[in-house]
Amino acid sequence: MQQTQVTTVESYFHRFIRQYPNVQSLAEADLHHLMKVWEGLGYYSRARHLHAAAQEIVSRFHGVFPDNLDDLLSLPGIGRYTAGAILSIAFEKPAPILDGNAVRVLTRVFHITDNIDKAFTQNILWKLAEQILPEKNVRSFNQAVMELGALICKPGKPDCSICPISSICRANELHLQAMIPLRSPRKPVPHYDVTAGIIWRADRFLITLRPPKGLLGGLWEFPGGKVKPGETLETCLKREILEELNLRIHIKSHLVSVGHAYTHFKITLHVFECQCQAGRIRMNPDAATDFQWITASLLDQYAFPGADRKVIVAIQRKHLIRGGPE
Ligand code: SF4
Repeated sequence: MQQTQVTTVESYFHRFIRQYPNVQSLAEADLHHLMKVWEGLGYYSRARHLHAAAQEIVSRFHGVFPDNLDDLLSLPGIGRYTAGAILSIAFEKPAPILDGNAVRVLTRVFHITDNIDKAFTQNILWKLAEQILPEKNVRSFNQAVMELGALICKPGKPDCSICPISSICRANELHLQAMIPLRSPRKPVPHYDVTAGIIWRADRFLITLRPPKGLLGGLWEFPGGKVKPGETLETCLKREILEELNLRIHIKSHLVSVGHAYTHFKITLHVFECQCQAGRIRMNPDAATDFQWITASLLDQYAFPGADRKVIVAIQRKHLIRGGPE
């Protein structure tokens, strides 16, 4: 749930639990199917980590979810925040949770004016969060602190007049709410132009599978890549397809350009319809680990990243109506 709203996750959660009702079924899941269930939620490394963690729980812990910090931290995708959430919420054990909301509440209540992006300040906050844990009801306490941050002690203008702990809050007393917490200035979000090809061979086109690790790992995509300085979109696409797949292509027409925002950057994806000219597919393993020639009607069977799903709408609109390449 970190960085994702409850309302966004809710329907995914129910679908996920129906598909994988226990750790054994998740461990045995087919990764492509799992990615399809996750498709549209973003943060795809979480799906891969959940899958890998379930497999380790089955193999190393005989299918029993660990209930201590060291074992939890040894599982893929579980850091201090998630371990604290599991220990306190699932097992009612005295472990702190420090998410963005809790950090805001603690820094304001205890008047911590150091930069919260520094590791030194994070250490102070984790220690503090541990010290203030109650002996009982840790589950409710942790959730109450996070909820207070989400609903009342909000980033812009906290509602101090209705805050249940305003009498012990130092920031409220000193009227410093607006100054706390202190963060490093945000860097501007970079933007990249990226190309992709719908590469036709008869009535089918090519999709490739991204390597399992890294950004959007394990998802299918339309092959292409980032435009280099001084390159035209067409030159970029031809170069990328040759480098990644050993194919020479003829670019026929521009299909669509779509914008998409990731956590740390934005892209404009320029998509062209192409014909395969020459070459036999030889994948560069850093770029693709599998490929399929498919028809437009089969697109829904594969899990794609958000930007590619916008492209799919354009393909389906054009080719499911007209029935194939021009
Ligand atoms: S009094 Fe205001 S600043 Fe202090 S914890 Fe409550 S909402 Fe936050």
